[in-house]
Amino acid sequence: MRIAVLAESDAAEPRVAAVPETVKKFIALGGDVVVQAGAGKKAGVPDAEYEAAGAKIAATAEEALNGADLVLKVRRPGADELPKIPKGAAVIAIMDPYGREAELKAMADAGISTFAMELMPRITRAQVMDVLSSQANLAGYRAVIDGAAEYGRSLPMMMTAAGTVPAARIFIMGVGVAGLQAIATARRLGAVVTATDVRPATKEQVESLGAKFVAVEDEEFKQAETSGGYAKEMSAEYQKKQAELVKGHIAKQDIVITTALIPGRPAPKLVSEEMIASMKPGSVLVDLAVERGGNVAGAKAGEIVTTGNDVKIVGHINVPGRLAATASSLYARNLYAFVETLVDKESKALAVKWDDELVKATNLTRDGAIVHDSFKPAA
Ligand code: NAD
Repeated sequence: MRIAVLAESDAAEPRVAAVPETVKKFIALGGDVVVQAGAGKKAGVPDAEYEAAGAKIAATAEEALNGADLVLKVRRPGADELPKIPKGAAVIAIMDPYGREAELKAMADAGISTFAMELMPRITRAQVMDVLSSQANLAGYRAVIDGAAEYGRSLPMMMTAAGTVPAARIFIMGVGVAGLQAIATARRLGAVVTATDVRPATKEQVESLGAKFVAVEDEEFKQAETSGGYAKEMSAEYQKKQAELVKGHIAKQDIVITTALIPGRPAPKLVSEEMIASMKPGSVLVDLAVERGGNVAGAKAGEIVTTGNDVKIVGHINVPGRLAATASSLYARNLYAFVETLVDKESKALAVKWDDELVKATNLTRDGAIVHDSFKPAA
């Protein structure tokens, strides 16, 4: 079983799909690992460390892919890479498949089996493979660090000889994996933290982290969680009540971090221009949903926007990539855990069980066709 680890061709992607720790595990599993030269450079892993772990270094993607049975990547393979991947090989990555009909067709036409890690079901067996959680957790942490760095004051209350400095007020909107880590991080840094979500289950989670819960707790709120644990899109009436409540609260905040998402829908608009206008000069908003349309009015992907009243709106993209070393090692472990389920321990070869629920949930293309129910072209 030959395993190729490619350098990411997208310059905006500093993460890498394998680290020396997982290379050793793949070798123990019976794999020959070939890493494209420089693949780990931006994540702090030099080629020599992969070699020390037992991998071969290939000068080019073409050389790394030669004879590969399994290809590990962070992002979906691009048009430049597809022709170099051997037909029949399995490719595992974060595929970002929604609305990408042409890209999915190109992968199918290349005759490869592709697996989207972000479609992994959130069941107990697959927790160790959950890239959405491993990466969102880091994004939540980093959002607080980024917000603090843009904020011209300190976060904790300080009593000094020169006088007392008040603690910063941080408001977290959306309390999923990223939001919970943002609350924990903001608390560790000494801020006074409040948080909101539309799912009732989050109230207790917020309070258990020592933050205060702020939300419109009406009848609709009590029903706002789907059986899958995700948020529903709220009615216009609820959104109006929520906006009223948030409006008064946000004017008193120093840093606001938004993480609200609804699966398969654009991110809900939570912070309006009017609310931003009510904030103090020097306050900071960090929009983690900016790549999905944004929670904050005026947020721009990849930019820090300063408004007329000197409020900064931080719209960094690929926030987990801003912690490339940690994000890569967690992502690499998620990948290893999945690959382990695809390998036959006796023959030490890839033996994908096509009816396994993890395979069914993640497999996008196979034998020249798009096979995933959610992405099959309409007949
Ligand atoms: P997500 O990234 O889809 O959304 C982030 C948060 O935004 C969610 O908490 C959501 O309720 C909230 N939100 C949506 N609309 C909002 C609005 N209008 N106002 C305020 N907040 C809004 O969420 P996630 O981090 O993927 O977590 C979703 C669920 O999955 C949670 O219940 C979480 O506990 C669960 N989960 C389960 C597992 C597992 O079982 N393996 C792993 C991770 C997460």
